[in-house]
Amino acid sequence: MRPEELQRALAEVRAVYAELAQRPLERACLARTECCQFQLTGLTPQLTKGEALVAAKGFRATGRKELPESADGACPLLKRDTGKCMIYADRPFGCRTHFCDAAGGPFPRKQILDLIRRLEEVDHRLGGDGPRLIDAAVADALAEI
Ligand code: SF4
Repeated sequence: MRPEELQRALAEVRAVYAELAQRPLERACLARTECCQFQLTGLTPQLTKGEALVAAKGFRATGRKELPESADGACPLLKRDTGKCMIYADRPFGCRTHFCDAAGGPFPRKQILDLIRRLEEVDHRLGGDGPRLIDAAVADALAEI
């Protein structure tokens, strides 16, 4: 991937996240990380390629190289000793639109559909295959950046 193509994709995905934060949707993530326990929730975030690249960049910025193995069914980006997300500022769209009940439940799709479409456009431009499970999507993105 050309550097300018990567930069453009990162900027567009971050713009989508910033716009989501401006939406008048009442939700409050308390960073309880219950939604990061995929085995318990039965729900695993799926990322478009642009989201995966943003997450991978955030992960690399922590000084880490390889995605940790996740043997306990939780997100590999959840730091086990602190219980915090390693990439909170760069967390994927699904982690922001809260399937978490404590944060207020999932956002109504029709209120964020335009943002989903923008992420899909970035995915298409990057030759992505649509949303993929977080582990595989971020591992592949790490190999690309
Ligand atoms: S990316 Fe962060 S917020 Fe999202 S599930 Fe993983 S640890 Fe939780």
